[in-house]
Amino acid sequence: MHQRTVPCQEYFAPRKIEEALDILSKQEKEIKVIAGGTDLLIQYYDRLYEINSWLDLKNIKELQEIKIHQNQMEIGAMVTHAQLEKSAEIKKYFPVLGKAAADIGSPQIRSRGTIGGNIVNASPAGDLLAPLMAYNAQFKLLSTQGEKIVPAEEFFVGPKKTILEPAQLLTRIILPLPSERTYGSWIKIGKRKALIIATITLVLVVEMAKDNKTVKDVRTCLGSVAPTPVEIKEIRKKMVGKNFDQLDFAELGQIVEDKISPIDDIRGTKEYRKDVAKEIMINALEEIDAARRSYK
Ligand SMILES: Cc1cc2nc3c(=O)[nH]c(=O)nc-3n(C[C@H](O)[C@H](O)[C@H](O)COP(=O)(O)OP(=O)(O)OC[C@H]3O[C@@H](n4cnc5c(N)ncnc54)[C@H](O)[C@@H]3O)c2cc1C
Repeated sequence: MHQRTVPCQEYFAPRKIEEALDILSKQEKEIKVIAGGTDLLIQYYDRLYEINSWLDLKNIKELQEIKIHQNQMEIGAMVTHAQLEKSAEIKKYFPVLGKAAADIGSPQIRSRGTIGGNIVNASPAGDLLAPLMAYNAQFKLLSTQGEKIVPAEEFFVGPKKTILEPAQLLTRIILPLPSERTYGSWIKIGKRKALIIATITLVLVVEMAKDNKTVKDVRTCLGSVAPTPVEIKEIRKKMVGKNFDQLDFAELGQIVEDKISPIDDIRGTKEYRKDVAKEIMINALEEIDAARRSYK
C-alpha cells in the first residue's frame, strides 16, 4: 500500500495550558493546533495546506473536564462528542447539546472529535453550533496576552471563519444553567442515515414562566442555512410573554421559512431547505408543547 510520508519539523504536546500558549506565542512560522484531528487531518491529507509545526492538545487534562459552578457549566474544549453524549449533567441541563453530539458521524468520530474542534472548524454544517447559540454559550479565548470571553454569535464570521487569532486557544465553553421549566428540541435533517452531514438543523429552546404556560424566553437557531449558525430573532418577538396554548405554530413556521436565505448545494436546494425549515419548526413546537404538558 502506498504510504505518504509526512514531513513534520516540529511537534509539541504540552501538559499545561500555559505551556501551550507559550509555544503559540513564540512561533514565527505557522503552527497548527490539533485536537481530535477529525477535520484537520482530512484537510491536511487532501493537501488543502501544508503544516510543518503541530501543537497537540491531547495531554492537557484540564481541557477534558465538564464542571459546574456558580450557576454555569464550563466545558473544556477537548471534551469529545462521546463525553457530551454520555454526561448526566449535559442530559439534565442541556439535553439538546447531548442529542446533537449523539447525532455526529459515527462512534469512532464521536470518540475523537471534540467540541472545541467543531467550534473552531466553524463549518456551516457543524452540529454543535446551533445548540450552543441557543443555550447562550460564551467562548473563553486565551493567549499569553490575556483572556477574552466572546458570545457564540460574535465568534462565527463566515464559513470556516472565526474571530480566533493565531496566538489564541479556545479553552472553555461557558453555558448559563437554564431555569427549571426550560424545554428544548433538536432536529437534524440529512440525506443518509449514517455519517450524515446536515442539510439543515434546528434548535428551539423555550423557557416558561412559573405557570408553565407563559413564554419567558425563546431561542430559535438553525444550522446549514447560512454561512454561520443563525438565530431567528423575530420568533422571540412573537412568542415572549404569550400563552403557549394560544400560539399559531403554522405562523411561527412561516416566519422561520421567510427569514432564512439558504443556498443550493449538493445536499439540497434553497426551496427544499426553506420548506423543511418551516416543517421542522412546527415539529419542534409540538415536541416542546408535549414536554411542557407532561412536566410535573
Ligand atoms: C466521517 C466524518 C463524519 C463527520 N460527521 C460529522 C457530523 O455528523 N457533524 C459534525 O458537526 N461534524 C462531523 N464531522 C466533522 C468533525 O468530526 C467535527 O467537526 C469535530 O468536532 C472536529 O473536532 P476535532 O477535535 O477532530 O477537531 P480538529 O480536526 O483537531 O480541529 C479542527 C479545527 O479546529 C482547530 N482547533 C481545535 N481545537 C482547538 C482549540 N481548542 N483552540 C484553537 N483551535 C482549535 C484546529 O486547528 C482545526 O483548525 C465528521 C468528520 C468525519 C471525518
